[in-house]
Amino acid sequence: MKLSVQGIQSSFVRSIRDGGSDANGQPAQHRYAEGLANPCRHCLELINDGDEMLILSYRPFQSLQPYAETGPIFLHKNGCQHYKKSTIPAWFSFLEPAIIRGYDENSWIRYDTGDVVPGKTLTEKCCEILSDQSIAYVHIRSKFNCFQCQVERA
Ligand SMILES: [Zn+2]
Repeated sequence: MKLSVQGIQSSFVRSIRDGGSDANGQPAQHRYAEGLANPCRHCLELINDGDEMLILSYRPFQSLQPYAETGPIFLHKNGCQHYKKSTIPAWFSFLEPAIIRGYDENSWIRYDTGDVVPGKTLTEKCCEILSDQSIAYVHIRSKFNCFQCQVERA
């Protein structure tokens, strides 16, 4: 199965970088990345230790409904390239473990798809979940339940 793996939309990222409001109605917090575990959800790369980053609240859903969880994410403070590829970023294989789950067309969790898996099995798990046509998309999250990215059928 061909996958479509995307970072969050550039228009939203631009607005946040320009001081716009996050999902909690607040501007992003400015920090310097410490260590190597700071993934940017726009380019889906790890922010280099010491680089400027933004921390904000993000809700990866189109509309408000009971399953529309909100949580913290990081972004590069300065320009980076939007990720849109057919493959999951290589470093996701180091997510130990990752949380994965499918959502239906109403963006409600499909409980039969939820799992906690080793990062290196994410491509296989995405294909397995998305082979069910009643699944609209998959979310990959860290062990802290922080949203990493959305995966769809290409
Ligand atoms: Zn980035």
